[in-house]
Amino acid sequence: MSLDNYYDVAIIGAGPAGLYAAYYAGFRDLRTIVFDGLPQVGGQISTMYPEKLIHDVAGFASIRGADLVDGLLSQSQRQPYDLHLSENAIDLTEVEGGAYDLKTDRGVEYRVKSVVIAAGLGKCDPRSLPELDGVQSSNVVHFVPDLSILDGAEVVIAGGGDSAVDWALAAQSRARSVTVVHRRNRFRAHEQSVNEMYESGVRVVAPGHVKAYRKDSGKEYLTIAGGKTIEDVPFTKFIMALGFRSDLGSMTDWGLNIDGFRIPVKPDMETCLPRVFAIGDVSEYPGKVRLISVGFSEAAIAVNHAAAAMNPDQSVLPGHSTNEV
Ligand SMILES: Cc1cc2nc3c(=O)[nH]c(=O)nc-3n(C[C@H](O)[C@H](O)[C@H](O)COP(=O)(O)OP(=O)(O)OC[C@H]3O[C@@H](n4cnc5c(N)ncnc54)[C@H](O)[C@@H]3O)c2cc1C
Repeated sequence: MSLDNYYDVAIIGAGPAGLYAAYYAGFRDLRTIVFDGLPQVGGQISTMYPEKLIHDVAGFASIRGADLVDGLLSQSQRQPYDLHLSENAIDLTEVEGGAYDLKTDRGVEYRVKSVVIAAGLGKCDPRSLPELDGVQSSNVVHFVPDLSILDGAEVVIAGGGDSAVDWALAAQSRARSVTVVHRRNRFRAHEQSVNEMYESGVRVVAPGHVKAYRKDSGKEYLTIAGGKTIEDVPFTKFIMALGFRSDLGSMTDWGLNIDGFRIPVKPDMETCLPRVFAIGDVSEYPGKVRLISVGFSEAAIAVNHAAAAMNPDQSVLPGHSTNEV
């Protein structure tokens, strides 16, 4: 194994809990690697509600989801660490000398002294329409990491939940046209947002469904059926906001005593495996509350205990950040 693949701590998941754990790992001078199977950081916030205002993060009367993620990322990057996106952790094996070998779905192996699992709901696979199986187009997406890609676009969105409606509202002021297609006539999204969408000028085809994709002379179209009408709608961005399939996947074979979708932890966030910690939505203990702010606190607890467990000369309490320059 190359020396480049040795780390003090591997953080699995770059949602809010994982990013804050990365900040603390830097504060403790740990050589750190962070993995996320998705192409972007931010976990559920980036995938499901980047444009929503979050009102219960300490220190902010309210903050847009994407802004909180940006802040967490830049705070975590005060100290350098390796961030590997689109790379899932798939195997963890204890090796001699009190370390672990962590394998990813890129076929790479890393030797780590401790692990912080911040996997949220687990490995996320965005759902796609079977009608688009085999379609290779950079204009067919599941997320909009940067709203500017919608500027002047002809946007079609499939889905009936909060993400679909939020993308539609966000696209409306930027795009040339916005069409939302939903299989049912009732949306599952927040009622006020749905009303706003209907009033905003977004074209809604509900009930309706996408029957096919076609490309003709460089232009892309979706065949959309709604009521008795079938039409070819041109698009330059098609967002499939159909939710995610998530599961802990191979983590269930890591010896973690996983209970359904949750990993039981002790008060210091350590799992039943030494120096393997679990934080955020994935962790479970009596009295657990699944909120961003709780995940932050668990990240601080886990990383500081990991630092002390790896180096018994160090105390769990890191000292105050105000002493840093
Ligand atoms: C619509 C909605 C609104 C919400 N509103 C609020 C709110 O107002 N206030 C609040 O406090 N909470 C809110 N929440 C809940 C909040 O988003 C979660 O509690 C929080 O995101 C959990 O953070 P996390 O870091 O534990 O996990 P996640 O955000 O789920 O991130 C986990 C990350 O781990 C990655 N991952 C999983 N398995 C692997 C693997 N094997 N290898 C690599 N990467 C992996 C995933 O891809 C994901 O990016 C809301 C949730 C939703 C869905």
